[in-house]
Parts: sequence; C-alpha cells; structure tokens
Amino acid sequence: MPVLIFFSSHWFLSLFFQTFFHHRYASHKMFTMSKVWERFFHFMTYVAQGSSYLTPSAYAIMHRMHHAYSDTAKDPHSPHFFKDVWGMMMHSREIFHGLVTKTIKVSPKFLGNYPEWAALDKFGYGNLSRLLWVIFYVVFYAFFATAWWMYLLLPFHFLMGPIHGAVVNWCGHKYGYQNFDNNDDSKNTVPFDFLMLGELFQNNHHKHPNSPNFAKKWWELDPVYPVLRLLHFLKIIKLRRVHG
Ligand SMILES: [Zn+2]
Ligand SMILES: [Zn+2]
Repeated sequence: MPVLIFFSSHWFLSLFFQTFFHHRYASHKMFTMSKVWERFFHFMTYVAQGSSYLTPSAYAIMHRMHHAYSDTAKDPHSPHFFKDVWGMMMHSREIFHGLVTKTIKVSPKFLGNYPEWAALDKFGYGNLSRLLWVIFYVVFYAFFATAWWMYLLLPFHFLMGPIHGAVVNWCGHKYGYQNFDNNDDSKNTVPFDFLMLGELFQNNHHKHPNSPNFAKKWWELDPVYPVLRLLHFLKIIKLRRVHG
C-alpha cells in the first residue's frame, strides 16, 4: 500500500507542478505571482520532479517553439515525424539539453519572461541531484515494496517529468477529437482529463493558448482550473484576464 500511495502521489504532484509551473506559468504566463511565491513553487517543482527535474526556462522556450511550429518539421516533439514515442522523446531531449546548455540557437522571440533560479536550476539538472533522488526512490521501495512487480514502477519515478511530456505530446497530437481547426493535428484525447490533469486538451489549448481553462465545452473538465481559481481567490496567484 505505501508504494502505491507513493507512486500516485509522485505521479500527480510531478504532473501538477509541470502543468502549473512549467506550462501555465513559465511558458504562457496565464497568471502572475510574487517573487516569493514564485521561488516557493519553483522549489516545490524541483522536489516533485526529483530525478527528472526539467529546467523551467528551457521548458518554456521549447514549449513556445512547439506552439509556433505545431506539427511541422520545426516542432520539437510532433508525433508525426517519429515512428515511435521513444524516438520523439530522444529528439526532444536533445533539444532540451541544447537549450539548458545554451548550445543551440533559438529565435529571440521565444526567450525571456520565465522563472530562473541559477543555483537550483544548475543543481537540479545535474547528475548529483538526479542520483540522490534515484537512491531515495530505490530505498523507499526497498523498505515498503511487498511484491516483486512493484519494482517495475521504479523507472517511472526516475523519468516522471519526461514520461508525462511524452504522453501529452504523443497522444495529444494523435488521438482524440477536435473542437477547433488549428491547422495542426492537436487533439482533445478525452473529455475528462483526470489522469493527465487537463494537459490532454491539446486542441482546445492550441486554439486558446493563454486561457487558463483547458476545457472549452460544457461537458469537458480540466481539473487544474478550479485549483487556479482557488489560488487566485486566496491571492497567491493573479489570473490574467483572457477573452475566449
Ligand atoms: Zn501541443
Ligand atoms: Zn502550451
């Protein structure tokens, strides 16, 4: 039981901070917050992602490129240019690493206005931090796993952030229905997106990239939007006014 609680907590916490901090805040600035809260959420994002910490600035740049070049050859992770999800992951990993190390050139229009924390970003992206988190996950399983198959869940812990990215990028541009014609292959994979916390409403999101609510029809539900409304009500974040 502790292993399953640990697994689902890690799954949803890592995913929540990815959609909240990396995607909706760093990439799209759907809301603003004070520097103190930004640091708090930045640190929590690091803890939640652990060994697969994704530098928010690099995530934001890559994600802005994805919106600008959606499903074209310049898209960093369109499923339509790869024969399997692993090939797509390796390609986006290479671009991501190039953005972190600043070894690839990108248009200045994708740069700036994202959270940066030099010390944490450097440590979190480094091998020592990754190794320590991996040891922590393995030790937790060594103490609490009650069946051999539970150890098969460990690779998910190691690569949680990129796995979520791959599921969203692959499924969200390949399987599902479209509410809008966005001149790309973005799809809404399911009408109630609990497992990926709203991220699978890619078709809606590409149509309204700055809207904090990824659900657009009355029968769709983005479970993170009410959380944003609550944080706005509590004055922790300030939602931007968007139309449409
Ligand atoms: Zn997309
Ligand atoms: Zn986006």
